[in-house]
Amino acid sequence: MVKICGIGAGYVGGPTMAVIALKCPSIEVAVVDISQSRISAWNSDKLPIYEPGLENVVKQCRGKNLIFSTDVEKHVQEADIIFVSVNTPTKARGLGAGKAADLTYWESAARMIADVSNSDKIVVEKSTVPVRTAEAIERILTHKSNGIKYQILSNPEFLSEGTAIQDLLEPDRVLIGGNEGPEGQEAIKKVKDIYAHWVSEDKIITTNVWSAELSKLADNAFLAQRISSINSMSALCEATGAQVSQVSLALSKNSKLGPRFLNASVGFGVSGKKIAVLGFAFKKDTSDTRKTPAIDVCKGLLGDDAWLSIFDPRVSPEQIKKDLSMNNNNVQSSSCNGLEHVDIAEDVYEATKDAHAICILTEWDEFKRIDYQRVFENMQKPAFVFDGRNILDVGKLRKIGFIVYSIGNPIEQWINYNVNSAVTF
Ligand code: ADP
Repeated sequence: MVKICGIGAGYVGGPTMAVIALKCPSIEVAVVDISQSRISAWNSDKLPIYEPGLENVVKQCRGKNLIFSTDVEKHVQEADIIFVSVNTPTKARGLGAGKAADLTYWESAARMIADVSNSDKIVVEKSTVPVRTAEAIERILTHKSNGIKYQILSNPEFLSEGTAIQDLLEPDRVLIGGNEGPEGQEAIKKVKDIYAHWVSEDKIITTNVWSAELSKLADNAFLAQRISSINSMSALCEATGAQVSQVSLALSKNSKLGPRFLNASVGFGVSGKKIAVLGFAFKKDTSDTRKTPAIDVCKGLLGDDAWLSIFDPRVSPEQIKKDLSMNNNNVQSSSCNGLEHVDIAEDVYEATKDAHAICILTEWDEFKRIDYQRVFENMQKPAFVFDGRNILDVGKLRKIGFIVYSIGNPIEQWINYNVNSAVTF
């Protein structure tokens, strides 16, 4: 029986290993992590991350061929194949700060594998890493000349948070890169055989290891360019009277461009009084807040002396406060930057009560279904809505009486309102 160990029980490792366990009942999967609290949560009824469908997958396999453990060394030692999905954040200091990947966690995982292994291993890079990381990892693994053979493969993860389970069950493609010699090819085949349990052969691409590493980075870069382009379009729309949703619809019908990653999003600040912030996760259907624009927007508002009442259906109050108390280098700030002005609401209606404005910062579907008439009646007037995700029916809200600013939509009404009524918000 093949034994797999997944190091890192986070947004990538957790769902990926759970789906492998689901689809390969004959394979034993151990997901290990140094964080006791994360592992305890994976073993509880309240999983540490939210993804639609994840709970169902975990419940089907946990305790059968899927276990979660902090006994990292034992499971690494027993495994034939080790998937490494540890965090690779952007470096916060030193050379390359703000740009380069911090490989500290990867390096310590590799050193641990080298220290505890007593049989040959296939080590698979799942995390996003710079090209030629496999070479550095190989050097660490083989520096102890104890006769153990390692094959390093790159099998980058292309899942999107919020649709991780669906992306894993029905991937566009699975990419496996390895050494071009016979041992590398044999290792590729072993990993290919795992995916072949549920992914058709034509979707499994095998390459050399550097192509696989670079493909993941190229993929990210192309998507980032698209998002950046549509966000620039949204500024043009605001200036010209065009509507960004109409422009992106027109673009999406071009089969050479395709429909995805064409939604404009927030990246702006406003200043004011009591602001209801709806949504904190970086996008809907996830509890992940890393790199969420909500952090910058909320900090900007706090800097302008606003009082914030924040509601997100999935992000915990502790996480929101932690994110807002970090400085830009991810270090807990001693002053906590006005957290006494932050209140975490239980629901939308509590968050918006007596607020001067609503900022929609995550495109949760439930924000489309709010009783906006009721919200309007309980807000200060004039009542503003800043729809930073372009999800609301602007016409309907304006009819109720809201002053609506929706990203990427013509700005005239907003300007006229300010000029005519001399309200500064
Ligand atoms: P990602 O979004 O890439 O999955 P996360 O931060 O959600 O990143 O998850 C990475 C996980 O890897 C964390 O839970 C962290 O505790 C774990 N981790 C980091 N280094 C090691 C290590 N050396 N051994 C085991 N787990 C590790």
